[in-house]
Amino acid sequence: MAKKSGTRILIGLVCTVCKSRNYVTTRNKLNTPEKLKPKKFCKKCRVVREHKEVEKLK
Ligand SMILES: [Zn+2]
Repeated sequence: MAKKSGTRILIGLVCTVCKSRNYVTTRNKLNTPEKLKPKKFCKKCRVVREHKEVEKLK
């Protein structure tokens, strides 16, 4: 029986410059123990910026 809960956490991705939360995604704690730092397009800055992960509660 596969258990669904526990390993995938819901996270938000915020722009490191303007701090606006542009993305919400999930991360598997077991496969990806480090925090994500993806480069994504910020709608507010209107350029591609490094985003940082903030944990988002359900
Ligand atoms: Zn921004």
